[in-house]
Amino acid sequence: MTTYKSACSLNCWDSCGFEVTVENGKVIKVDGDKNHPITKGKICGRGRMLETRTNSDDRILYPLKKVDGVFQRISWEQALTEIADTMKKIKNDVGSTAVLHSHDYSNSGLLKNLDKRFFNCYGGVTELTGSICWGAGIEAQKWDFGSAWSHSPEDIFNSKNVVIWGRNVVRTNMHLYSYLQEVKKKGTNIIVIDPLFNATAKMADSYISVKPGMDGILAIGVMKEMIRLELEDREFIHQYTHGYDYLLALINQLTFEEIVNLTNVPRETFTELAYVYSSGPTTTYLGLGMQRYSNGGNTIRLIDALGAVSGNIGIPGGGVNFGNLQVGGSFNIEALSLPERKKESRSFTMMSQAEGVLKAVNPDIRMIFVTCGNPLTQVPNTKMVHKAFSSVETLVVVDQFMTDTAELADYVLPTTTVFEEEDLYYSSMYHHYVNYGKKLVEPPGQAKSDLWIWTELSKKLGFGEDFDFSREEFINLGLQNVNEKGITLERLRNENHLPLPVDEVPWHDFKFQTPTGKYEFYSTIAATKGYDGELKLSFPQESSLTNQELARKYPYTLLSIHPMRSNHSQHYHIIEALQEIKVEISIDIAKMKDISQNDTVRVYNDRGELYGKAHILQRSHENIINIDEGQWSKFGGSVNLLTPDRESDNGLGSTLYDCLVNIEKK
Ligand code: SF4
Repeated sequence: MTTYKSACSLNCWDSCGFEVTVENGKVIKVDGDKNHPITKGKICGRGRMLETRTNSDDRILYPLKKVDGVFQRISWEQALTEIADTMKKIKNDVGSTAVLHSHDYSNSGLLKNLDKRFFNCYGGVTELTGSICWGAGIEAQKWDFGSAWSHSPEDIFNSKNVVIWGRNVVRTNMHLYSYLQEVKKKGTNIIVIDPLFNATAKMADSYISVKPGMDGILAIGVMKEMIRLELEDREFIHQYTHGYDYLLALINQLTFEEIVNLTNVPRETFTELAYVYSSGPTTTYLGLGMQRYSNGGNTIRLIDALGAVSGNIGIPGGGVNFGNLQVGGSFNIEALSLPERKKESRSFTMMSQAEGVLKAVNPDIRMIFVTCGNPLTQVPNTKMVHKAFSSVETLVVVDQFMTDTAELADYVLPTTTVFEEEDLYYSSMYHHYVNYGKKLVEPPGQAKSDLWIWTELSKKLGFGEDFDFSREEFINLGLQNVNEKGITLERLRNENHLPLPVDEVPWHDFKFQTPTGKYEFYSTIAATKGYDGELKLSFPQESSLTNQELARKYPYTLLSIHPMRSNHSQHYHIIEALQEIKVEISIDIAKMKDISQNDTVRVYNDRGELYGKAHILQRSHENIINIDEGQWSKFGGSVNLLTPDRESDNGLGSTLYDCLVNIEKK
């Protein structure tokens, strides 16, 4: 029995260090690495269950081909030859963009970026832009700051106040929760703003309930009060910002009475928050949910603006933390992905990929190649996704398990888990350490790494020399940019984790990456992309404010938050307790509809319906229903049967939470 250092590959804020025990060529236990500077030996159940995922009897062991509606085992040679021949024919007949590469981030890892290299060397395919998960917020921060950077985790010790805005850190960012517990003991004031009274709210000094989709209006109210009380940071605004007059004009459009009515937040809370934000370093940690609305980008921009107006940008203990693109930006992704090899290009947004497939002409989409994703479960408007993915001549899915997407495929190619290949792991969401993961065990059956699949396919397609590198050489290519800072594969193999060279207090020199070099209340980047750069008074598209007829028919807001025990859809099939739909409803709905705990309920709108067991939320904003995302069709179906596939206001995010539904007891 031997214990090795390793790392979590799941798409998560925390990017934990692992200690993995191997016995007789089998992973038998996954634990936390106590020496990891941020994650300090604590990991969550999702990470621990990577052992179960690796050893599961449900792993796909051989390449599969669907013949007359039934999967048959075939050889790798047959699978790769037939897929390569189809790709050659498509390229010759109509061009390479008739292939759609549908990807996501279910498994992180530096070398997962080699899928882009493969498709670029093929000649360029139809690619996806934006992100279902965090796209609106990332784009919003690029408009305001020039990029989306976060303060280092330890900087929280410099904060007088911590505002957790829409992020349930207990569920999704457990090491931030550990820091919250530490700073609370030192007297730091912790405030949680969220429509749901979640586990993080329980430990906070104060909790503010806000109407879903109205977080930006709440930020306007706090800025309005701050300016009324003359608490704004005039020096920062004067010296380092662009477009303040536009912001003032927006703030003056609403009275306090209107803001209170729109947000359902009491008038005195605006005064309290105005004093909090101006009383000393205040850091804000943003969650992902509030940017999953039609007005999601604008919402994040308004909270960024609150950080700027109160002077909490570029100072220790301050910041508006969303993602941390400095982390992923440390690697030489271009050297790995070779974008210059693309001869043709076309893109769909990730959210509207199904519509893109159904409407594509010149060329139409003939093949979809899915890597690191499960779009049948995760992409909004499931019915349309099913229709689109069923409509193409060839669907190829690379996965470890027979997911909903794999079930629909023509070819399923079995791939490795994190413990079956060497790679580097990092997350561009929270901390700035890169972790090393060694190959610990052999993959089962004939499962192969993604890199092996690309290498063999590239040989059959005539560009084998582009993959004529060892795994070690590819990792070294990705590390080129940080080698001079002493970050090498050799050191990572010895030391297991290293800090990447990032700014731990972003924008401390007050030089922003925007075209003006300033923090932009009026975004010039937006203007160059064809959007209006002004901050707006904007609302969710599915609400009584914007669509009264729809709101009469479907009066409740549906949220689809991240599950506690599964990483998106990745754990439902291995945890029996998750294999039914839990419909969480606010107590006012339960009373109105005479629904009791565990009653079977039907949740529906024009896009679809779902059946599940009612669970009554004792404390939340009114008129709210939540169904956790990621459920498999064989266990009741994905919440995305109900969600819309519209894009966010800045084009690059989803609107999953901008969703009205009704409910009935069955
Ligand atoms: S899922 Fe996140 S918190 Fe859990 S072990 Fe992996 S990185 Fe850590």
